[in-house]
Amino acid sequence: MNKVDVKNAIEYLEMQKRLFPNSANVLSGNFDLAIAALEKQMPKKVTAESGKWPDGRKRISHYCPSCLNELYANQEFCDECGQRLDWSENDGCY
Ligand SMILES: [Zn+2]
Repeated sequence: MNKVDVKNAIEYLEMQKRLFPNSANVLSGNFDLAIAALEKQMPKKVTAESGKWPDGRKRISHYCPSCLNELYANQEFCDECGQRLDWSENDGCY
């Protein structure tokens, strides 16, 4: 599953939602569930925050952009919500 496939699948489901607004899948939220699951496959940049350890050394904490769960360095997916993560702008150091 690559980024383009996932993007196309999301666009297809969004289009189906607009074309058939009264379908059982739209009314029961199945399309929204499928779209939300697919969006978790698209990597999102982790959030970094600078802080300090109790002994004064610099500490950088990383958080999931979707649920704000604190992350371990270079996790591919958030273990709380399943979001695929993009560490390209972070070196993952603590
Ligand atoms: Zn998360």
